[in-house]
Amino acid sequence: MNLTCIICPKGCHLQYENGTTNGNACKRGAEYAKSEATAPMRNVTSTLPVTNRGVFVSVKTETPIPKHSVQDAMQLIRSLSAKAPIRRGEILAREICGTNLIAIMTVL
Ligand code: SF4
Repeated sequence: MNLTCIICPKGCHLQYENGTTNGNACKRGAEYAKSEATAPMRNVTSTLPVTNRGVFVSVKTETPIPKHSVQDAMQLIRSLSAKAPIRRGEILAREICGTNLIAIMTVL
């Protein structure tokens, strides 16, 4: 499996095969390659309508979720809305594929 490491801007080109990583300049790249090969995770970002302001608030999952759950998370997020005031970091929904959905901006 060939990958580009996204952990830092160096962007090492990795090869992962049979539990061994080559091409990584540090151990974080080996951990990333193993995760991508065995249990890939993703942060999900989106927006929610703020019903009492007529604007949208940017949101993201508090922690990464399994890549195979991203579509389920997006389906849940599409059904949500929020009400101002909203503070950056505030939890706007719980139990979104095993994590919380938090605001990444303030809407007063
Ligand atoms: S392997 Fe290490 S140095 Fe290379 S991109 Fe990944 S984190 Fe950066």
